[in-house]
Amino acid sequence: MSDMDHYSGNSHAFRLGLRGRCPRCEQGKLFNGYLALAKSCDRCGLDYSFADPADGPAFFAMSIWAVPALGFGMWIQMAFDPPSWVHLLTTGPVLILGCMALLRPLKGWLVCSQYIHKAEQGRLSPRE
Ligand SMILES: [Zn+2]
Repeated sequence: MSDMDHYSGNSHAFRLGLRGRCPRCEQGKLFNGYLALAKSCDRCGLDYSFADPADGPAFFAMSIWAVPALGFGMWIQMAFDPPSWVHLLTTGPVLILGCMALLRPLKGWLVCSQYIHKAEQGRLSPRE
């Protein structure tokens, strides 16, 4: 098996991110807590200082979960016609918990994608 057989790009990065595993050895932990990245891999020692997903996980989580949460809120409104405060106790938690559930796998996916695709800040090279 060559390196290219093992490498399958984004789907590979997504699986690693979903499991919260190191993008190099695939065994070590990526996270130290719920959303905090570990300083380095506890198995192979890969330094995670390259990782900077910024607001990407939050953007994707909100974009993905907004439609189902809106559908849930509309269903409650149309089925029961409740007062507005009921949405604070039903639709609000569904929205927040759904986004929270997506943040960790999306952050893991973006960090693993950064490593696999060697993504980094753009640089201007001096003219020669
Ligand atoms: Zn590792």
